[in-house]
Amino acid sequence: MIAGPSAERATAALRDCRLCPRDCGVDRTLGPAGAFCRLGAQALVYKELLSLGEEAALGGPTWLVDVGGCSLRCLFCSEWQFVVRPHQQPARAIDAAWFAQRHAQRKVQGARTLSVVGGDPTPSAPGVLAALAQQADPLPLVWNCNGLVARQAWDLLDPAVAVWSIDVKFGNARCAERLAGARGFDMLGAVDGSVARALGGPRYPGLPRLIVRHLLMPGHLECCTRPVADRLAGLLAAVPVHHAVVNWMTAYVPPMDRRSRAPAAVGLSRWPDAGESARGIAIGRERLGPMLVVDGR
Ligand code: SF4
Repeated sequence: MIAGPSAERATAALRDCRLCPRDCGVDRTLGPAGAFCRLGAQALVYKELLSLGEEAALGGPTWLVDVGGCSLRCLFCSEWQFVVRPHQQPARAIDAAWFAQRHAQRKVQGARTLSVVGGDPTPSAPGVLAALAQQADPLPLVWNCNGLVARQAWDLLDPAVAVWSIDVKFGNARCAERLAGARGFDMLGAVDGSVARALGGPRYPGLPRLIVRHLLMPGHLECCTRPVADRLAGLLAAVPVHHAVVNWMTAYVPPMDRRSRAPAAVGLSRWPDAGESARGIAIGRERLGPMLVVDGR
């Protein structure tokens, strides 16, 4: 059973939104004006499915719910159109009736968990949690986020989250700014803080408390993958192996749409070289040992 935030707390967060380190301080109950994530009060779902593609540590199929909007602008984002235009078709607001019907259906089909992803779901936390709180026997919640979870969001989410799944993408502030537009706040500090805080929270039986994902980007082994491995080795040094999983993801896909000039300018418009994945995996294995899985397995 989850502990959902009170409607009053969720609404208060939306009225002065500081859910992520963008710290916009806008009133999202009036609409998305001024919100970097381009979201008003509603959580907008543009895709949902039963997925077998998540980490094996989740123990089976997950109900994957993709919500629009994000606090970053990663040049290689595969969901770009729903990041920058979260209200476009086929997005729809998550309401209690829709959520309950789909939740029941996916449970019957074998879902073991509910994985909310994006974009980034943290700006949509009030809407998602409101719908989830209506369920009598909700699926354990897996929160697949970019790690930009400010205190306001953490306090809403942590009592409800069974598994924090946090992307640790960048090894230095320069790459975070050039590749994802992370400027005006401390991206690395925020993400590492989320990883550390997740480990202090409650655990759900049979599930890891934390999944960390790192995408092996072409040309970024030394500036990103190696420093990420070093940071995680430090953050997770005292954590029992079954409490946390680090997933090195090798399926980088260069963006092929009209944004391709921007990724090209930073070397991201190509597939990884033949040896890059192997070298990246070797770096991870050396620093993280048995905690490391590759592509979820
Ligand atoms: S969730 Fe983040 S980006 Fe969106 S309005 Fe709030 S502080 Fe700004």
